[in-house]
Amino acid sequence: MAATKGDDVVVGDEGPEEIVDYDEEGSDNESSDKKAAASSEIKGSYAGIHASGFRDFLLKTELLRAVTDCGFEHPSEVQQESIPQAVLGQDVICQAKSGMGKTAVFVLAVLQQLDPVDNQVDSLVLCHVRELAYQICQEFMRFSKYLEGVRVKVFFGGIPEENHRRLLEDPAKHPHIVIGTPGRILQLTKLKNKTTNKPLLDLSNLKRFILDECDEMLKIDMRQDVQEIFKKTPHEKQVMLFSATLSKEMRAVCLKFTQHAQQIYVDDGELTLHGLQQYYVKLGEAQKNRKMNDLLDALEFNQVVIFVNSTRRCKELDKLLQEHGFPSMAMHGGMDQTERLERYNKFKAYKSRILVSTDMFGRGVDFERVNIVINYDMPKSADQYLHRVGRSGRFGTKGLGISFVSTQADAEVLAQVQSRFEVEIPELPNQIDTSTYMSK
Ligand code: AMP
Repeated sequence: MAATKGDDVVVGDEGPEEIVDYDEEGSDNESSDKKAAASSEIKGSYAGIHASGFRDFLLKTELLRAVTDCGFEHPSEVQQESIPQAVLGQDVICQAKSGMGKTAVFVLAVLQQLDPVDNQVDSLVLCHVRELAYQICQEFMRFSKYLEGVRVKVFFGGIPEENHRRLLEDPAKHPHIVIGTPGRILQLTKLKNKTTNKPLLDLSNLKRFILDECDEMLKIDMRQDVQEIFKKTPHEKQVMLFSATLSKEMRAVCLKFTQHAQQIYVDDGELTLHGLQQYYVKLGEAQKNRKMNDLLDALEFNQVVIFVNSTRRCKELDKLLQEHGFPSMAMHGGMDQTERLERYNKFKAYKSRILVSTDMFGRGVDFERVNIVINYDMPKSADQYLHRVGRSGRFGTKGLGISFVSTQADAEVLAQVQSRFEVEIPELPNQIDTSTYMSK
């Protein structure tokens, strides 16, 4: 259905095939041992505005032009620390909060080094959810717009395999950069090109292998597919792994995929430094709807995301809000792919201002105008909290996070969040000064 820049982003319009619903899945990453820093680690803050500019990275002129068009004036700290090595082909393991510009690191590193060869995949980016794959593809499109002859395509399930076959068998459309989710990518590597009899998606010339939200990708259930794909790529290649959270155990796994990687870990404790106001509301389950109603009436917002813990609750809350006249929209894993993308685009385009969502959208997906996140249901872990509230206050803008605490378990997660991120989350006051969470 959606297509931009000619037909470079090609996604189909069929129903679900392998919808992965991350709803009830709590993240099990424990706080990483911040002291156990390897010698090549770099620590930093999210504040991230540095004196040097993108010019200092000696990027191709076409890339610099695109960077300027995107309105990026200064590299963030993560970009500052990793782009110089990444563009030289060094392996990178990078953990930094969502919203601090990790995507641009690998997008720029790939495009800077890319020398497009027909019928060869140069770079592969894998991520765990389809909307994120789509979003990454859009970033590649934005940054490659002045580069001649670079083809980028996104592949994920829910699209007829035949569409993907047509693309990959057509030399004029065959991509140099492939983004996708592991299930479909693996499937495409196993099929044969009817003309050449080589794998339909041939990774034997791959030069760069990238995992976004790699801690999700390397959890047991997905790791097998990822490993299988990895084995189909040449030994010599650049590997870049990115994640908002990375436990100590997961770091060890990451090291196995890389060689002499530059490791960049930013400190989760800095979460609050970005003008993100966080509060909790203690209430019973039965009071939640009333409170939600009052909050939406009282608060000023650009866009708000309300998180719930299941698809059923997502549908119900959305319905209720609509019945009360709020322009809300639901997003959950039970929807088919076409609908998911349509809604994603609608929200991204600011055509809807309230999104009720499950954790499907808790990670990586960037809605830059969201300035309020409400946990209608408290997340199940501190990590999950971080991924959710990371929707607001992205890239140093202001934001507000409000969590409903109704059970003992909720209170425990709130306590974990406070200790893990070294932040004090007070009870929601009757009045909040709008200027503390709205950027004027
Ligand atoms: P990410 O963390 O990659 O999801 O990026 C979050 C948001 O920040 C995206 O909307 C990016 O376009 C934006 N962004 C990334 N790097 C910069 C930068 N250096 N200057 C301004 N915005 C940026």
